[in-house]
Amino acid sequence: MQNTVLRVKSLSKNFSSVKALNNISFSINQGDIFAFLGPNGAGKTTTLRILLDIIKADDGQIEWNLDGNAHRLPKASQIGYLPEERGLYLDIPILKSLVYLASIRGMDKTEAKKSALEWLERLGLADRAKEKLQVLSKGNQQKIQFIASILHKPIFAILDEPFSGLDPLNQELFIEFIREINNQGTTILLSAHQMQLVEKIANKVFLINKGEELYNGSMSEIYKTFENKKIIELHYKSALNENALKNFKEAENIEVIENSIVKLTFGQNSDLKTVLSNLAQLEGDFDISTHKPDLHDIFLYLVKNH
Ligand code: ATP
Repeated sequence: MQNTVLRVKSLSKNFSSVKALNNISFSINQGDIFAFLGPNGAGKTTTLRILLDIIKADDGQIEWNLDGNAHRLPKASQIGYLPEERGLYLDIPILKSLVYLASIRGMDKTEAKKSALEWLERLGLADRAKEKLQVLSKGNQQKIQFIASILHKPIFAILDEPFSGLDPLNQELFIEFIREINNQGTTILLSAHQMQLVEKIANKVFLINKGEELYNGSMSEIYKTFENKKIIELHYKSALNENALKNFKEAENIEVIENSIVKLTFGQNSDLKTVLSNLAQLEGDFDISTHKPDLHDIFLYLVKNH
């Protein structure tokens, strides 16, 4: 049996009239990569800040169990936190700042320096070690922020929007790093919007929208729930007539992307032969493709039916 290292029960939080969190519960086991996914303003950062006692919940309970005993809060040495907004010292040399932060989280300074240099090397920033953070680009600052959050080898890492400001190649690199530190024993709680990235590494997923749970469970189960559904995409080469689509009753969900792609979701009872022949009657010039739902499709479907 896997150990539960974090239990969150019935968390609620209001900011004046905004219901940021409404009765959120989940638990994370040792070794999980737990993805907290949702659109802007869904309540992800609020949840993470409450977990670390940066802000207080109005209601609910949190229990950390990283060392065999239940605690209200974890120790600094046990946790790695990559905050959404950049939180490092801008006017201190990068290496000095990294070593300092790891040392106050319990790491030996010599080991911290060695490890920081290794990470800087891997992220292509070894030659910038003596520079101040403020002279780095946004993406490179994010890399330093990432190193700062995991350098001391925390048991549990909370990564809030780790991919923000990174180009696609570096996003893929971060996916590999997250997988690597997880394989070395760090449990990960990850918040992001980039579903196509997260679905590559997470084993558990919590989908949140407007402070409310849409789904909480294993990644494989969420795909199973939707395995009978099919997505048909219409890629328009000519102008798209949204009104004609409104009469298309066979689809459970219709999403129009950038006024040129239409995604139609069909349930298991839909007869795809009939659907395709009806689609062929639609006016306009478009290509048709079909695929199984990915996490993004599932999320949109759940939001719509919430
Ligand atoms: P994003 O992906 O955009 O970072 P998020 O899922 O992290 O979004 P939160 O930052 O948790 O979302 O915000 C949830 C809701 O609470 C939003 O409506 C936000 O405007 C509101 N909110 C968050 N912090 C505050 C605050 N300090 N004062 C007032 N409202 C707040």
